[in-house]
This record gives sequence, structure tokens and C-alpha cells, in this order.
Amino acid sequence: MIQLPINIDYSGKVVVVTGAGGVICSTMVRAFAQSGAKVAALDLNEESVKKLADELTAEGYICKGYKANVLDPEALEEVHQAVVNDLGKCDILVNGAGGNNPRATTDNEYHHEAKEGGKSFFDLQADGVDFVFKLNFQGTLLPTQVFAKDMVEKNAGCILNISSMNAYTPLTKIPAYSAAKAGISNFTQWLATHFAGTGIRCNAIAPGFLVSNQNYKLLFNDDGTPTARSAKILNGTPMGRYVDASELLGGTLFLCDDRSASAITGVVLPIDCGFAAYSGV
Ligand code: NAD
Repeated sequence: MIQLPINIDYSGKVVVVTGAGGVICSTMVRAFAQSGAKVAALDLNEESVKKLADELTAEGYICKGYKANVLDPEALEEVHQAVVNDLGKCDILVNGAGGNNPRATTDNEYHHEAKEGGKSFFDLQADGVDFVFKLNFQGTLLPTQVFAKDMVEKNAGCILNISSMNAYTPLTKIPAYSAAKAGISNFTQWLATHFAGTGIRCNAIAPGFLVSNQNYKLLFNDDGTPTARSAKILNGTPMGRYVDASELLGGTLFLCDDRSASAITGVVLPIDCGFAAYSGV
């Protein structure tokens, strides 16, 4: 059981979370389940979501884990049917699956500092870039196509996407991930507008820097000491620390609640210890 930052009653709501086996979204699954929702936890990694669902079920909450690839429309339709049978039609969709890939990452921040043999901008692989765009953008679009149909039927619902700090200003080394997340912020506004007449709201959170599987190697050396990049991040963060995944829950629960956020659609909420607000000077 985790300590919830706000108490909102989600009883009766069916919440579908993709990327639910990961650092951020497993915490969101817990928060929604503890708030009374029936939660469908979807992830490519079946073991992680089954374990999470088993834990929550043992604690008396309602959660089911499903293997789901957010890039496979047919498989998503099958999972959708299973969710409808098990829990009911979807009220809230959290598009959490996403991430970067080393094949779309340069070794150096600046080309003029590139070392011989390192991966430069010119060595980025098209398939790596494609992978990152697909996972983050199509991985949000495809589940929305499948699960938002339930919301259109109900004339109510909420979609929450996950953007990033690099959507505001790109971060060095990760051009594809930065552009894909800028696409997510843009798509959030597009969806909000497109569905405005259907009772569906669409918003995003933009988490600041967390320590997680996907960025661990950028933040810590093999011996566990912080990298130079880690020091730069903290110097650029007015509050001088990383964000904890639990600190995303207040914004998440607030934005997905029709009563608290009834007039809020199309926003991207930074939860970042001030990073996006600080010019560095
Ligand atoms: P994570 O790597 O811990 O979790 C991502 C999860 O997505 C994993 O469980 C993985 O199995 C799953 N996944 C990957 N490909 C999938 C696919 N094709 N279909 C279904 N599931 C798939 O990452 P996280 O840090 O929890 O990130 C969650 C979201 O938050 C991502 O969209 C990420 O880009 C975003 N984000 C993370 C940070 C950060 O600092 N960690 C900051 C800003 C935004």
C-alpha cells in the first residue's frame, strides 16, 4: 500500500494503463487501484504486470494484468475485449508505454567534442530512430484508437499521455526521443480538440528527471557514481533533486478526475522540481 497524495474516489471506473510494468506506471496502477478503480495493467512484459496484479489483488484491490504490445493493433483489440469481459468498458486510458533506445542516442553532447570511435550524429541508425518514434507516438495513438471507442460510447472519459521535459527543449544525445515526446505534447492538444464534443478530455503530464531503467546508464557510471550529466541535471533543477515517481500521482489522479478537472483538457502539466521553468541563469 502506498501513501496517496490526494483522495479521489475512482470506484466503478475502469482504468487502462499501458507500460504498467514500468517504474512510473506501476505506481499509477497502484494509486488508481487504491482509489477504488478497476485497473487493467498492460505491458509487453507479462510477468511484471501479472505480479503487480497479484500483489494488488492480495491486498483487496481490483487489478488484472495483460500482456499487450502497444504497437500491435490486433493484439490490442484482443486485450480490449478481455478487459471489457473482465472489468468493463474503459473510462480512463493512461498511455504510459514509452522510452528511448541506444541506437537513437549519440555518445556526445556536441559534435565538435566527439571522440574518435564514438557514435556521432552521423552514426544514428534509421531503425533505432524509427523504433523510438513508433514506441512513443504510435504506442500512444494505437491504444487510444482501441480504448477511446468505449469513451465515445459513454460520452465521457479521460486520456492521460506521458510527455517529458525534452518536449519543451530537446535534451542532448537523444534527438529521436525528444522529437517523439514533443509529438506527444502536440498530439495531446490534437486529441483534446478532436474529442472535445464527445465528453472525453485528454491531457498529459511531463515528468521531470526520475531515476529509472531507461535513463540509469545516462545518470550513473557502472560503479554507481553519478555521471557529469547527472550533475548538470541537478544544477538545472531549481529544487536541486530528482523527482520521485510517487510525486507524479497527485497530478495524475487530479487530471483524470472529471469533477476536479472538468474544464481541463489539452494541457501538459510539468511535474519537474522546476526544471522547465529555469533558464539556467
Ligand atoms: P520504464 O522503462 O520503467 O517502463 C516502461 C514500460 O513500458 C516497461 O515496463 C516496458 O516493458 C513497457 N513497454 C515497452 N515497450 C512496450 C510495448 N511495445 N508495448 C507495451 N509495453 C511496452 O519507463 P518509465 O520511466 O516508467 O517511463 C514511463 C513513461 O514515462 C514513458 O513514456 C517514458 O518515456 C516517460 N517518461 C519517463 C521519465 C523518466 O525519467 N523515467 C521522464 C519523462 C517521461
